[in-house]
Amino acid sequence: MLIHLSDILLTVGKEYMIEVPFEAEEVLWNGVNYPVLEKKPFVGKVRNEGNQRFHVELEGSLRLKFVCDRCLEEVPMDFSLQIVEDIDKKEEAELEFYVEGDQLNAEELILQELLLHMPMKVLCNENCKGICNRCGANLNRGTCSCKEEPKDMRMAAILDIFNAATKD
Ligand SMILES: [Zn+2]
Ligand SMILES: [Zn+2]
Repeated sequence: MLIHLSDILLTVGKEYMIEVPFEAEEVLWNGVNYPVLEKKPFVGKVRNEGNQRFHVELEGSLRLKFVCDRCLEEVPMDFSLQIVEDIDKKEEAELEFYVEGDQLNAEELILQELLLHMPMKVLCNENCKGICNRCGANLNRGTCSCKEEPKDMRMAAILDIFNAATKD
């Protein structure tokens, strides 16, 4: 969402209340798209500080869908974000990101703040048992039968050999 700054830039000290809907349906992070499950418009204000500078405050929350690193079950995660940013329209780095002509790219401000809060590790539960690496069963829902069988079969084979050797 772009917010027009032309009016506010005319009067030093002028302040606007702003409401910014988060429009993206997915958030791209480290090559993975995370679906946005819930979002409310962010609210806040923008103020002209003079000399092409303005102060922006925004507050809001988002819910994204992650998957557990161990069992791959869905894990919804809430983010409460507070953005306080002083933007100088004379600085090129900020222009690239946040200002397009006389418009403030408020969505980009929210996105950059969100990316600072993305978790390095996601677990459905601290004690998640993960999935069986043979059959893919979710071991949080019970044990699968993979563990015993191969051992039993190998043991049976060894016993056969042992029995055959000791018969003579
Ligand atoms: Zn899990
Ligand atoms: Zn299994």
